[in-house]
Amino acid sequence: MMFMGRPPVGRFAPTPSGRMHLGNVFAAMVAWLSVRSRNGYFVLRMEDLDTQRTSEEYARQLREDLLWLGLDWDDESPPQSQRGEVYQQYFEKLQDLGLVYPCYCTRSQLHSVDAPHLSDGTYIYPGTCRDLTEEQRAAFDREPAWRVQVPDRLWKFRDLVQGGYAQNLSRDCGDFVVRRADGVFVYQLAVTVDDGEYEISEVVRGMDLLSSAPRQMYLQELFGFRHPQYAHVPMLLSPDGRRLSKRDKDLDLGVLRQKLSPEALLGILAHSAGLIEKPAPISARELAAVFDWDKLSTEDICLEGKDLAFLEG
Ligand code: GLU
Repeated sequence: MMFMGRPPVGRFAPTPSGRMHLGNVFAAMVAWLSVRSRNGYFVLRMEDLDTQRTSEEYARQLREDLLWLGLDWDDESPPQSQRGEVYQQYFEKLQDLGLVYPCYCTRSQLHSVDAPHLSDGTYIYPGTCRDLTEEQRAAFDREPAWRVQVPDRLWKFRDLVQGGYAQNLSRDCGDFVVRRADGVFVYQLAVTVDDGEYEISEVVRGMDLLSSAPRQMYLQELFGFRHPQYAHVPMLLSPDGRRLSKRDKDLDLGVLRQKLSPEALLGILAHSAGLIEKPAPISARELAAVFDWDKLSTEDICLEGKDLAFLEG
């Protein structure tokens, strides 16, 4: 596995809705290592579209935690909460292309048991509101969400970690929301605009976002952005096999920083992911010198009890 060409521009795009947990640290670490091991440029971006759940205090803590880990950045691009006007311009491009339409479906309609779902539980929008007439639209007494129409076409790409991946948006996803009824632009649109405008050449993030990539590639094409190289890194699982989440307070950085040095923490993560042979302490810079995509595990990474033995002390 090799990236080709110019020095990469990578990014870490956390949602400041809580303290980073080990899984977030892992994604940040790999994104940073990929860039720093090839003299690239690293951008930090706060994805705080959901102003109810996010806060400047969490964003401040995140920056502080990243620096504690030794994961620095060259530029911080403006937080998404401040870019509504920019997203509006891109939304208007979609309108000009005649590709967006208002959707009046309620949450309960969308999530009813009769609604179409893929086997993994993904809900597929069947186009309910696509062909409403002006009279039908006018009869609704509420603000609509806005969906973009998707083509019946296969999106194929090679993910650096997961290998070949393909999705037909019309079969596997359906027309998707780009602007919510309350006027807030959604992640898929914001991330595409931000990665595109900042000329991000590689997107390294958790495997849970793999199925979002085709939606973003579709929007990239409509907006005239190049596709970045994608690398969706495995998820970290706790010893009992669960995915870590922000609810796992025992593994968030507030606790980890009291028990471990940054080097010890990076050593545990790098070792569990196959990047180094022994779980010995190592700094971010030292890791960048030995980083190799080929060594990175492609499977979910189950932390072993002994990796977490420090929690008992
Ligand atoms: N903000 C997203 C998250 O924290 C990541 C988005 C991305 O990397 O594309 O899960």
